[in-house]
Amino acid sequence: MALEIRTFVGGPLETNAYLVGDPETNEALVVDAPHGVTSEIAAVARAAGWRIGRVVITHAHWDHIADAASLKAATEAPLVAHPLAVERMAAPSAAIGDLPIEIPPSEPDGTLTDGDTVSLGAHAFRVLHLPGHDPAHIVLFSEADRLFLGGDVVFPGGHGRTDIPGSDQAAMDRSLARLRDLPGDTVVYPGHGRTTTLAEERGWIGG
Ligand SMILES: [Zn+2]
Repeated sequence: MALEIRTFVGGPLETNAYLVGDPETNEALVVDAPHGVTSEIAAVARAAGWRIGRVVITHAHWDHIADAASLKAATEAPLVAHPLAVERMAAPSAAIGDLPIEIPPSEPDGTLTDGDTVSLGAHAFRVLHLPGHDPAHIVLFSEADRLFLGGDVVFPGGHGRTDIPGSDQAAMDRSLARLRDLPGDTVVYPGHGRTTTLAEERGWIGG
């Protein structure tokens, strides 16, 4: 049975959080923690009868971790992120200037690195470490489900910003090169804005 995905938009940068549920086992996971999404995600999961087993942070930019502590408290699920995100989750800061909102520190219960597997019922995601926008950036990719929970790597029409502290265009180019071999009908759920497919973005990704 196909996974079900609900989208929640939160915070001043309209950042997407995703609740991904397996209707067969009622297991679910959350991807990213923008400001103000916790109660709605918890309510939707409860109404669906889903148990949230994991909260995955794609990268440590403030708009993706604002609700990390509250989601962890509300769901009692382990919070997981790349090892390079841990320090910045403990002391959230803005890449440029001051934080527009107050963000409580959060502590991951586990880390995910390239090649790890995140399972959800009978479904499995491969963790890809794709630095460039942020050194700690990971995505969840399922070849079988044609699903790419991608944070700020791929958007409709372009990649995440590489002109901010911690970003690196050469690393982004290497990360994007890894996407050229993935199936074109893979649906991308980005950290901001609407979904797209890898095929629709081939023009600028290449391959
Ligand atoms: Zn970002």
